[in-house]
Amino acid sequence: MDRGPASVVRPMAEGRIPAVSLIMAAEEIPVSAYASKLLNRADAAEGTMAFQFEKPPGFDFKPGQSVDLTLLNPPETDSEGNVRTFSIASAAFEDQLMFATRMRNTAFKRSLKKVPLGTVVKMDPAMGSFTLHKNSAKPAVFLAGGIGITPFSSIVRQADHDRAAHKLYLFYSNRRPEETCFIEVLQNLEKTNPKFSFIATMTDVPRSKKTWNGETGRINRDMLSKYLDDLRGPIYYIAGPPAMVGGMRKMLVESGVDEDDIRTDEFAGY
Ligand SMILES: Cc1cc2nc3c(=O)[nH]c(=O)nc-3n(C[C@H](O)[C@H](O)[C@H](O)COP(=O)(O)OP(=O)(O)OC[C@H]3O[C@@H](n4cnc5c(N)ncnc54)[C@H](O)[C@@H]3O)c2cc1C
Repeated sequence: MDRGPASVVRPMAEGRIPAVSLIMAAEEIPVSAYASKLLNRADAAEGTMAFQFEKPPGFDFKPGQSVDLTLLNPPETDSEGNVRTFSIASAAFEDQLMFATRMRNTAFKRSLKKVPLGTVVKMDPAMGSFTLHKNSAKPAVFLAGGIGITPFSSIVRQADHDRAAHKLYLFYSNRRPEETCFIEVLQNLEKTNPKFSFIATMTDVPRSKKTWNGETGRINRDMLSKYLDDLRGPIYYIAGPPAMVGGMRKMLVESGVDEDDIRTDEFAGY
């Protein structure tokens, strides 16, 4: 994304950047960006951590959007740099921002795991149009592969809070239950929101130590048809690693879904 003049360091806007960042940030944050403090972190599933950040004053986003997060003075760095794009996994009504990521062995993620709580990061404004469509007569079908759950986590939490009129179907594919982030929260949302159906599927149950009684195998046409009255009609949203997104799109098109009804969010980098 061309950030144009935003990348030029300018004087900081009062009220937008918490005073603490003036002391802690090792490089200045342009007025077009925000400073945000790391508040907490915890394991969210095997190999995945969730990070809670302060929601900076004036920061606004729509569920489904993502931000570029920059580590300002990380303990280590590598050729991949200090910036990553993350979808916001928390809902807009919540007063903190949550991100979840697969903890691969990269300098960025090792740093994120070990910097002290209270560390200030740079957060660019939320971006992207991977947000729930307006026409509530059309159901939304969300197809998530692994960590691709993050934008949908935000959308379904917010829909529950707003009592949104849309019918929502979330198909969520993982290898094993142990690796499946947010599964309990999502199961609970299915109980509180009668318009929300949650279908988790596991592709490698034999390697799991947990019992699994839900769907198994990859999301495919037969699985969708089991839960949807008509494959044509809903708006489809696919998020996950590029190979998963490509495979799901192909499957939908071959099943007769109109390309205009398919929206995608590729998590480049996986
Ligand atoms: C819209 C969007 C939302 C995302 N949301 C999440 C999320 O919620 N959780 C999550 O874990 N990951 C998310 N990602 C992926 C994330 O940005 C990282 O790429 C991923 O976590 C891998 O980082 P790494 O440090 O493990 O691996 P590395 O391989 O060290 O880092 C990834 C590298 O991939 C390359 N890369 C990253 N983004 C792009 C891009 N857009 N185009 C081309 N190359 C790129 C860069 O070289 C980057 O440094 C998202 C990506 C996008 C584009």
